[in-house]
Amino acid sequence: MKISTLKRKAGATAQCRGHKMIWSEVYRSPYGFGGDCQDGSCLLCGDVVQLTENPPPNGIDIEGTAMSRNCRYKNLMPNERAKK
Ligand SMILES: [Zn+2]
Repeated sequence: MKISTLKRKAGATAQCRGHKMIWSEVYRSPYGFGGDCQDGSCLLCGDVVQLTENPPPNGIDIEGTAMSRNCRYKNLMPNERAKK
């Protein structure tokens, strides 16, 4: 799947879970199967997601904590985030 498609899907999931994602530059996959990768992280809680166009056999194309749990800080004001 193209990196732009993966980013759209992962971005939609992250948004549903309350995360506010920022994304790295697209970079060449380090796994030796070709394709591109991109990383994202949530501005509020720091949860991450990694996108891999051609994942290794034991890998997956979209993975990370931002996909598997809701944002812990989404409903908190900035001053309350510091205390948590
Ligand atoms: Zn978050």
